[in-house]
Amino acid sequence: MAILIFADTSNGKVSKNALEAASYGAKVASSLGTSATVITFGNADAAALAAFGTQGVTKVLVNRSLSNADSRQISKLVVGAAEKEGASVIVFSHDLIGRAVAPRVSARLGAGLVSGAIDYPNTSAGFTVKVNLFSGKAYGEIEVLSEKKVISVLPNSVGLANAGGSASVEDFAFDAGASSVKVKEVKKNEGEISLPEAELVVSAGRGMKGPENWGMIEELAKELGAATACSRPVADIGWRPHHEHVGQTGIAIAPNLYIAVGISGAIQHLAGVNRSKVIVVVNSDPEAPFFKAADYGIVGDAFQVVPQITEALRKFKASHN
Ligand SMILES: Cc1cc2nc3c(=O)[nH]c(=O)nc-3n(C[C@H](O)[C@H](O)[C@H](O)COP(=O)(O)OP(=O)(O)OC[C@H]3O[C@@H](n4cnc5c(N)ncnc54)[C@H](O)[C@@H]3O)c2cc1C
Repeated sequence: MAILIFADTSNGKVSKNALEAASYGAKVASSLGTSATVITFGNADAAALAAFGTQGVTKVLVNRSLSNADSRQISKLVVGAAEKEGASVIVFSHDLIGRAVAPRVSARLGAGLVSGAIDYPNTSAGFTVKVNLFSGKAYGEIEVLSEKKVISVLPNSVGLANAGGSASVEDFAFDAGASSVKVKEVKKNEGEISLPEAELVVSAGRGMKGPENWGMIEELAKELGAATACSRPVADIGWRPHHEHVGQTGIAIAPNLYIAVGISGAIQHLAGVNRSKVIVVVNSDPEAPFFKAADYGIVGDAFQVVPQITEALRKFKASHN
């Protein structure tokens, strides 16, 4: 009953989400008295892959022949590795790839699926996993009755292990078949802080009145070393790129600090940000729903408040250098 973790390293790097899934899987393995193996594909170097050992993983299987794989190929690869390892629990990050591949793997294995776990399984009686429901408005306890189990873990739910250790890295030759889609172009946002992995996020909404006013948001983000985000209507009307839209239909994030400027705090927005550790809201309307979810709130005009925060931050940094 080994534990298998799918970790996306297809871009040659080991992301925080991948490490977190590995940490989760290794902890489940330890509680069940078994070992944890990572399955991945791509060209990440062996030293980077061995770093999964810091999360308690003992072995990494890597398929070097797949690249730009679609979710069907990845699901075949994961099932192949699960069969090789005799895995009974397969763990994914609940990120874009995990959300697409975990259901396919569970269907192929006839396994029960827990989608978006926010805690480790309770195995004291059965196998029960806690999940978010109704966009974070409620929790659910899912009991998995099947012999094989597939779990996708919400990013930033459980954190990373702090162990030493290095995993062994083995090539895993496997024919996952041809892709059913052709990737025509991959465009990367060079130089930007990746929003799903950012610890600090400055976000803004329709209260900014227009795209020409985003300079102050970017300045504050730059001063903090934060990523920028936005509400959905802002992306829909083209003020900001869609990859910045957070919420129920956008990216779900859980940074240490989320600053929301001129965003009302509709439930669909909160669904993607309410796991942030500290939420700061700037809004001119004292009745804005976001204040109910905020740890700190500033009632005021963003056009006055945001430059003042940035200036205060500059002074603070200068006096502490
Ligand atoms: C199925 C569905 C899915 C959705 N998914 C998402 C999603 O994923 N993410 C998302 O964000 N939304 C989503 N929405 C839309 C959501 O319901 C809200 O419409 C949206 O979040 C509102 O965006 P906003 O707060 O930027 O704009 P508004 O609702 O227009 O709010 C603007 C806010 O700015 C404040 N403001 C105005 N001027 C200033 C100023 N000078 N200084 C400070 N504050 C000011 C106002 O008081 C107000 O609170 C979804 C809706 C549906 C129906």
